[in-house]
Amino acid sequence: MRLAARFSVFLVLVQHVVGKLVKVDKTPSFDVTLSQVDNTRIKAVVTNTGHDDVTFVHLNFFRDSAPVKKVTIYQNGKLQGLTSEALTMLVAGESLEDEFDIATTSDLSHGGSVTLRSSGLVPLVKGDSVFGYLRYHSNSLTIEIDAVRASQVAKAVVPLMRRANLSCSNSTRKAIMGKALSNTVSLANAAAHAALFGSTTKFSEYFKTTINATRQVVAARLQAVAKEAGSTTSGATTYYCADAYGYCETNVLAYTLPALNLIANCDIYYSYLPAMAGGCHDQDQATTSLHEFTHAPRVYSPGTEDLGYGYVSSTALSSSDAVMNADTYALYANVKRRSSERKFRMLNVSEGKVSSKEG
Ligand SMILES: [Zn+2]
Repeated sequence: MRLAARFSVFLVLVQHVVGKLVKVDKTPSFDVTLSQVDNTRIKAVVTNTGHDDVTFVHLNFFRDSAPVKKVTIYQNGKLQGLTSEALTMLVAGESLEDEFDIATTSDLSHGGSVTLRSSGLVPLVKGDSVFGYLRYHSNSLTIEIDAVRASQVAKAVVPLMRRANLSCSNSTRKAIMGKALSNTVSLANAAAHAALFGSTTKFSEYFKTTINATRQVVAARLQAVAKEAGSTTSGATTYYCADAYGYCETNVLAYTLPALNLIANCDIYYSYLPAMAGGCHDQDQATTSLHEFTHAPRVYSPGTEDLGYGYVSSTALSSSDAVMNADTYALYANVKRRSSERKFRMLNVSEGKVSSKEG
């Protein structure tokens, strides 16, 4: 994941429309120009550069505010239920503009340089039916993303009322998990309170700043973790008490699949970790679970990365990296215990981290 911050990645804005391309001599064409408004806020200008006015289906295209694709309108490869609300008419030579924030739908937790481009097919309409599809391409736009500000944007869409769903058929482990998650709630709530109202010196030790905006972000993420850990009946994440996806290996305590908002504990979570550690920055079940919850984008978006493990490497990070680093939250929540060497590593299995903005 660190590599993502060092090199450009491509966020491809893709349309997934099936069907034939238009087969007419006067092929209409769109010019799509992307520009940066502010950090993760992007403006698209779509210009009808053809000679004819066109009417098109704007679902999953620009000006469609839905963060998900409306796949249900397709049946047997055809658009169904076409209504005027789904159509836009663009006069020849005229443009439409759309602004959207890519932080609401993409994981931009790494910050840094990102290249955007948009391409796809837009359904063209005559009367009440689709007669063909217009292929379009945008310019490539490379922008620098501030990860902290991206975090602030994305929290507005976090489903805070959802709760962790504990999946466990082993009654012994289920009891241990119940206690661990209860401790996670206490730790996360206490740390959130400390971030907002506690020592600025202590906060700066971990997050390298005392500015209010960063304290708010840290507190909000910790509050979201507390909320998620606070119930085991339904939620934004699924938490398995065993290795449900086969990623456990020697020295791995637990892992998170951010793309699935799925967390799983490995055997040594139970055999190696105490419920709550007694000294130093020792690992325990509560802080390990807290660490994993911060990775899940549906708990608080964007999910954290693993930029540094343990006290020494975590406190060597810049402020913008620290606020996106899972272990910084675990260590800060464990703030009364002094530093000691971390003996085991945790695995963050990251899949689909470069997600696509669907028009
Ligand atoms: Zn991790």
